[in-house]
Amino acid sequence: MRWSRYFLPTMKDTPAEAQIASHRYMLRAGMVRQNAAGIYTWLPMGLKVLSKIADIVRDEQARAGANEVLMPTVQSAELWQESGRFDAYGPEMLRFEDRHGRTMLYGPTNEEMITDIFKRDVQSYKNLPMNLYHIQWKFRDEVRPRFGVMRGREFLMKDGYSFDVDKEAAELAYKKVFISYLRTFRRLGLTAIPMQADTGPIGGDLSHEFLIQAETGESEVFFDSAISGDRAFTEDLTSDAELEAAFDRLTSAYARTDETHESALFDAQVPEDRKVVSRGVEVGHIFYFGTKYSEPLGATVSNADGQDVPVHMGSYGIGVSRLVGGIIEANHDDDGIIWPSEIAPFGVGIINLKTDDAACNEACDALYAQATAAGLDPLLDDRDMRPGGKFADMELIGLPWVITIGPRGLKDGMAELKNRRTGEKQDVALADVLASVSAG
Ligand code: ATP
Ligand code: MG
Repeated sequence: MRWSRYFLPTMKDTPAEAQIASHRYMLRAGMVRQNAAGIYTWLPMGLKVLSKIADIVRDEQARAGANEVLMPTVQSAELWQESGRFDAYGPEMLRFEDRHGRTMLYGPTNEEMITDIFKRDVQSYKNLPMNLYHIQWKFRDEVRPRFGVMRGREFLMKDGYSFDVDKEAAELAYKKVFISYLRTFRRLGLTAIPMQADTGPIGGDLSHEFLIQAETGESEVFFDSAISGDRAFTEDLTSDAELEAAFDRLTSAYARTDETHESALFDAQVPEDRKVVSRGVEVGHIFYFGTKYSEPLGATVSNADGQDVPVHMGSYGIGVSRLVGGIIEANHDDDGIIWPSEIAPFGVGIINLKTDDAACNEACDALYAQATAAGLDPLLDDRDMRPGGKFADMELIGLPWVITIGPRGLKDGMAELKNRRTGEKQDVALADVLASVSAG
């Protein structure tokens, strides 16, 4: 992409409404613009990052055996009246009427709808286990939308739902998702700490939240730093027994929790130098709630004995749009964002220091073409402006690598290569610079 043709409106000044780094940088780096409290437009670069996160989520869902669907944002109130949640959900749910006077709502979550979809087409245990998910916008009329996309009113969520014939099978499905979430967050460059949680308005008896460390987080998290080295984050678990063992280990051995009675355990078991007490942002939340929705909505399957039984369900959420903010909270410095390479909006930035110099233009165009061909997805800053502004903008948007080409170095066939994370700069022959980027 050429910056001169890209809608990437950066801002020099810090917007007054932004209290935390990610919100400031998302506005300043031209990723989002607010339209109303907690409601945002995603501009091209923000949307690109959001899509990359969604694609990693999809990839890990496929690996875990889930099927992607797409349910609507607008729902009829009827199913919610049947489940009893229409009144229970409270003022966070946005309700309205269609032209025929029927009560509708903008979905804050989809347990009822997916249960209805399931019951119409699945009648036998032979079709189970089943896990269906979608990545769709939600609306929750939060009392205090804040921190930009971290607590919006409209936000993008991956919500998945598992269906099993009995409790035992459903718990295994839950554990599979638990492990797949750790992997998903790790691929996004994050160590998510699983923490036992309240089941809240979703209801049920087994629930975990996944928290990432951030100074501005809303909850307190205690954990053993050894958790990040657990092999469940990266290795494939090949059998159910291995999966169960990993789940048990991760939910007990690292003894991380914000419940006072359990922090005593934390104090006793974890060596002093591995104890971490920090703030956390919730990026995922999973629930096993049994037959809470299948019973009232009549979603039954026949079991191996030929009896009709209500299906056992779980639901699994990832805050896809919140993750954009969360990842920035975990990856920034005073100059701007530092993207983990997996989700960086572009693989490499190229700064043309002198756009009125024919040799500079030619060299930049050639490098841009080579980087594109090599799949590095470059962003070429070909704007006619002063170097200082270009450097500052490039730091702000945080691409992992920046190549600078100016008339002085070019005379000797050299370019400057900078690593955004380490700040390390080196002069590299123009002919070798892309190989250095690819080699990481
Ligand atoms: P929170 O405790 O932060 O209010 P929640 O428990 O109400 O979240 P869930 O129903 O568990 O949220 O939703 C699943 C995920 O969706 C959360 O883990 C979070 O990452 C994301 N999420 C929830 N509410 C918001 C919001 N207002 N803005 C952005 N993301 C959100
Ligand atoms: Mg939650």
